[in-house]
Amino acid sequence: MEEILAGLNEAQKKALTTTEGYIRVIAGAGSGKTRALAARFAYLVEAIGILPGNILCVTFTNKSANEMRQRIHRLTGDNDTGYICTFHSFCVSILQEDSYAVSYPKNFQVLDNADIDAMLKIIYEERGLTLRHMTFGNARDRIEIRKQMTETEYYRDLIAMPLDGLYRKYQEAVEAEDIIFYGYLYQQKKCFGLDYNDLINFSLYIFEQNEEICRKWQERLEYIMIDEFQDIDAPQYRLMRVLCGYHKNLFVVGDPDQTIYTWRGANIRYLLDFDRAFPGTETISMLQNYRSTPQILAAANSLIEKNSNRIPKRMEPVLADGAPVICHYADRSEEEAEWIADRIVRLQEEGVPLKDVAILYRAHYLTRSLEDIFLKRKIPYHIYSGVQFFQRMEIKDALSYLKMILYRDDTSFLRIANVPKRNLGERRMNFLQEYSNGQKISLYEALKRNRDHEIMRGARAGEFIDLIEKFSSEYSDRSVSEVLADILDQSGYETMLRTGGSQERLDNLAELKQSVFEYETSCGEECTLEHYLKRVALFTNMDVSESADGDAVKMMTVHAAKGLEFPNVFLCGMNEGIFPSRKINTPEGMEEERRLAFVAMTRAKERLFLSEAGGRDFDGSPRYPSRFLLDIDEQYLTYDKKPREGLIAAARDYIHAHTHTPRPAENYLQPGTKVHHFVFGDGVVVEIDSAKEAHLIQFEGMDTPRRLSVRAKLEIIKKE
Ligand code: ATP
Ligand code: MG
Repeated sequence: MEEILAGLNEAQKKALTTTEGYIRVIAGAGSGKTRALAARFAYLVEAIGILPGNILCVTFTNKSANEMRQRIHRLTGDNDTGYICTFHSFCVSILQEDSYAVSYPKNFQVLDNADIDAMLKIIYEERGLTLRHMTFGNARDRIEIRKQMTETEYYRDLIAMPLDGLYRKYQEAVEAEDIIFYGYLYQQKKCFGLDYNDLINFSLYIFEQNEEICRKWQERLEYIMIDEFQDIDAPQYRLMRVLCGYHKNLFVVGDPDQTIYTWRGANIRYLLDFDRAFPGTETISMLQNYRSTPQILAAANSLIEKNSNRIPKRMEPVLADGAPVICHYADRSEEEAEWIADRIVRLQEEGVPLKDVAILYRAHYLTRSLEDIFLKRKIPYHIYSGVQFFQRMEIKDALSYLKMILYRDDTSFLRIANVPKRNLGERRMNFLQEYSNGQKISLYEALKRNRDHEIMRGARAGEFIDLIEKFSSEYSDRSVSEVLADILDQSGYETMLRTGGSQERLDNLAELKQSVFEYETSCGEECTLEHYLKRVALFTNMDVSESADGDAVKMMTVHAAKGLEFPNVFLCGMNEGIFPSRKINTPEGMEEERRLAFVAMTRAKERLFLSEAGGRDFDGSPRYPSRFLLDIDEQYLTYDKKPREGLIAAARDYIHAHTHTPRPAENYLQPGTKVHHFVFGDGVVVEIDSAKEAHLIQFEGMDTPRRLSVRAKLEIIKKE
């Protein structure tokens, strides 16, 4: 017990030893929240004697879950580390155990966006839709909204509707949106697929349907702890409320200044109003910052203070004075990249290993000029975002082979039945599609039944079927890594890459094998193929092993860097239109963007470098320094090279012109006002949409209301 408490401050000790009831920690970046959370787990197990399997510890990413699991393992020496995972991954555990209760099979699949897109592709092709009707991204959003609106029926349909019933609904649908929705439901049911949102909502649905199961989980989870609580969204919040309903032991930590997922549905009110939702809440603050030097902290604080919608809070640095925060203005982006490379080499000469250097940026495309220079100068780097590792073609293909063994689903079938070539081209595939729709069976089953059909003559269908059947019958006795290595070999997939000279793809497959192997050794529970496939759909390339990268500079977006820390941080592309992003067009959006910049700066422990590039944007307009640089009090920045005074003045004008002052309420037309529009005719204002600066207007003779900008010319007919 002494060991666990050693090195913690009073607030952290309090967070550990207050085990019962509702506890909320609100504290700034680098104040030791996550450290306290991990120590609390160890305390509950070691000092109190709680069984790890009765603790749920929710982290924001799989990576932090893994780190924490290792930490707990070191602290307790126990292999059973209970539930340390993301919300999604925890829901997989719930469903794995209990989806049968609502007659949904245990061998369900977890679908990621790429899987959904593959299904949409089938639907679009079958029903003659094009991206002009709706992009896949929009289609996914519409499906999502529709599911939320009809939640209970949606799950009832998914579970109880027979496949041909769903198929009929899909065939009978006329509107593009209906076609897509029922097509998706049909595809989902066919492979028992659940997407990320389903994981949470379906778990909730099961809890609603079955009190006994709900109670079982409530009783099991004696203690619940949640990291990064400022970014929790509504479904996650609902789930958490249900889960803590019996023991009522809930511990959450968060920092309102680090809310950066509002655009994805996160709501800071859950943290701020926690004490009202959970009476008797004890709130703990942590005021020291252990992560960053006073120089870095002063600059970051100076930035976040410019947010008006904020509860002021100051952090006291614990570390001794360090180097100043360096700022650099480059004439062009290539020069900015050169400067970063130079600085990294200098750090290296001072003895800093490259893995202690991270470059953070607002958007993926900024890596391009960095990569050019780094390749030229032979500085090893590893990109932790961008094309996601698990979205790469060869990785998806490899996983599809594994899925074929287990699920025999259409999406996997379409991916790999003819890769490598087995003469299963378009004509034969169309035949299988028709046959499978007619019989309501999977494509694979259709192939099996038509193995000797006339049309299959000349195709190597039998070979493929034998391969899948062989692996299906023997996989359960073998480790996942063995199965993976063998099927890539025996299917001819690796040979295909080798003869095609795709060394990079082969390297990626080697990396995948390595990560499967590590997964097997780290996963305390029994690691089956079922288990692995459900989890891998939740992985991102943050989860690919770090050891494989050796000593390399880390590059990632600011969003991906959340919760992490690095000795040396470069924050590049600090320009208007990049960071803040051009997309930001509301005052709330700008405050979130500033929090994002704050998150970026507070990742740094020892050294922080900020850089920007001048020159022109692709549309010919001059590039200005970011308002976030100008927000920081000058005394906290040391310029390595400063932009001309003229440019700074011009930037201030530009920023002023592009700063959104919200339109005062009296400038809107009140709901009920009758208006006339020169094209749409007469209508009535239904709603004010101040976020979009628009009125929602119902025009006569139109079925649905239209959203018109406040700038639209409207004549007021009569005020009510
Ligand atoms: P963030 O809001 O960015 O997630 P956090 O509050 O979770 O930050 P941690 O990551 O837990 O902060 O801690 C930041 C750093 O400070 C870590 O390197 C951690 O090991 C160190 N630290 C935390 N508490 C202490 C302490 N009491 N004494 C010394 N170092 C500490
Ligand atoms: Mg943290």
